[in-house]
Amino acid sequence: MPWMGEVDVGEIGTQAAVLDEAAVLEIFRGTGALLSGHFELRSGLHSDQYVQCALVLQWPVRTARLCGELARRARRAGWTAETVIAPAMGGLFVGHELARALELRSIFAEKQEGRLVLRRGFTIRPGERFIIAEDVVTRGGRVQETIEIVRAAGGVPVGVAVLVDRSGGAARFEVPTIALLRMTPTVWTPSECPLCAAGSRPEHPGS
Ligand SMILES: [Zn+2]
Repeated sequence: MPWMGEVDVGEIGTQAAVLDEAAVLEIFRGTGALLSGHFELRSGLHSDQYVQCALVLQWPVRTARLCGELARRARRAGWTAETVIAPAMGGLFVGHELARALELRSIFAEKQEGRLVLRRGFTIRPGERFIIAEDVVTRGGRVQETIEIVRAAGGVPVGVAVLVDRSGGAARFEVPTIALLRMTPTVWTPSECPLCAAGSRPEHPGS
């Protein structure tokens, strides 16, 4: 099939191209996901930067390329797993595409009465090995909750795979973490925020 030679698998494939940090940043900037301005984070702190991962994840092929890179690094790290689990909502697409690239099962946990639970008939087998997937880690609470769901059911967490770790190194888990971008955003309490002092009002980009 000679036409196959015309296909640039780096563009359309999900695993072929190696993405370095510059290439990852280009995808985030190109989709408008790296925002500059004045933001109130979920923590209540203010910042001049925000990562709106949904603006990347609205592009399935770009999402697949990023998750293909996560998969490549997971393989290189020697992770062996049977299933990917992600906390909804943001983690869903990352978990799904990572599982596709690694040819694994993909399940998710979702909020019920304020805490993450497994629903919809998803099961965890004792001894089953899991990768935990997430889009953005800020303090790591949802990833930690997901790790605990796996452990409580007798599963074995082997690693955490995220697109963006913006915890500035503060989010640490008991298993290794792979992140395509690591950021340390500048944050202030509202009373110390220089942007508020200059008279601007923060946006709430997560909502
Ligand atoms: Zn402010």
